[in-house]
Amino acid sequence: MTGVAIIGLQWGDEGKGKISYLLSRDAEYVVRFQGGANAGHTVVLDDRELRFNMLPAGSASGAKPCIASGTVVDLSEVLEEIELLKSIGINTQPLISRNACIVLPIHKELDSMIEQIRSSEAIGTTRRGIGPAYSDKALRIGIKIEDLLDSGSLKSKIKLIEDFHKLPVGDIEEWVELAEKFSGNICDLEIILNDELDRGKRIIFEGAQGTLLDIDQGTYPYVTSSNTTIGAVFTSCGVGPRKISEIIGVMKAYTTRVGAGVFPTELKNREGDILREKGREYGTTTGRPRRVGWLDIPLLRYSIMINSIDWIALTKLDVLGGIRKIKICIEYDINGERVEMAPPNVRTLEKAKPVYIHLDGWSALTREEWKKVAVKGWDALPENAKTYIEIIEKLLSRPIKLVSVGASAGMEVAK
Ligand code: GDP
Repeated sequence: MTGVAIIGLQWGDEGKGKISYLLSRDAEYVVRFQGGANAGHTVVLDDRELRFNMLPAGSASGAKPCIASGTVVDLSEVLEEIELLKSIGINTQPLISRNACIVLPIHKELDSMIEQIRSSEAIGTTRRGIGPAYSDKALRIGIKIEDLLDSGSLKSKIKLIEDFHKLPVGDIEEWVELAEKFSGNICDLEIILNDELDRGKRIIFEGAQGTLLDIDQGTYPYVTSSNTTIGAVFTSCGVGPRKISEIIGVMKAYTTRVGAGVFPTELKNREGDILREKGREYGTTTGRPRRVGWLDIPLLRYSIMINSIDWIALTKLDVLGGIRKIKICIEYDINGERVEMAPPNVRTLEKAKPVYIHLDGWSALTREEWKKVAVKGWDALPENAKTYIEIIEKLLSRPIKLVSVGASAGMEVAK
């Protein structure tokens, strides 16, 4: 079987966009399986930055984009991103599962309302209506893509939502028109994906957000509103676990998180500010500054365990260049006890005090210098950078097979 899953191991923004692009180059299909237009996956090709919120970023490689049943779809974003692909010479229409739910204007409104009510305890959502669309789905009042093509039943479904929320759903004429426009691509995606996997076709399943934002396994309530971990591939796409032959974890060389919530290795000092600036750690979708911190091995061990990660793609190694002493949190002190694995419980995690090792850093390299490193390969990496990678591999008991040293495709080293 040739299903390959890509999962973020931290709080999102690990650089999954680039990794998915690289791994999709020899794939037939690339699938978004959870979340909605709250993703912000970036691919940089020839200095041009392409941002994907709804379609999988891997589709910039020419692999056929697919949107699976477990997502919540914003059709206007789909349209925009089809145009984005056209602008790089890719003429394609995504395959969209008829079972995916749609995000309605009312969901965006409800998203803002709940954040306002939460006030100082706001989750920090993208306000793109993702949470309310999922909650309507759980209430069994969600509207599926195929409903848009059936004007008879659509009216009564809209009425149900309006009666429940006591708000108008908003103008969805545009949604209906778009669904009609895409009608040739609205399909039984489950059958197509299974058939293609059985025929030996390579399919990339591109995760969004990250493991620690998973609604069940993440740091609730400061999480996203879907499952971001490996199980979502199976439930969303209707593809069984044995059809996935490789599960790849993407992590950046340090830690970031957007919005509120526990963050044991957070740097609230100048070192953090430097890392934020060097790593351009500002939200792709929202522009918000991200919180930054050192690498957190106990949390990564947890992510690797629950996703059955086979190997790791490490990104943004270049950002650490120029930092004299780099710290890695190798375990926690929780109530005086040393703990190697992050506890799957936020209250306990809040008590975790990071235990660090200190490593010598390496000099800052220019973009041109990193480019040369990428051309020459592993041996050309600064010695202390190689040591950093090898220590992480040992601590996580997983190989790091790909190291990204710049945003552009081509600026990476295979190990
Ligand atoms: P995702 O949400 O996990 O897909 O993360 P993004 O694709 O938005 O990546 C976060 C940012 O990091 C984007 O601006 C990328 O272009 C950038 N990026 C990815 N890999 C690297 C890298 O190795 N080095 C640097 N400096 N930037 C990178």
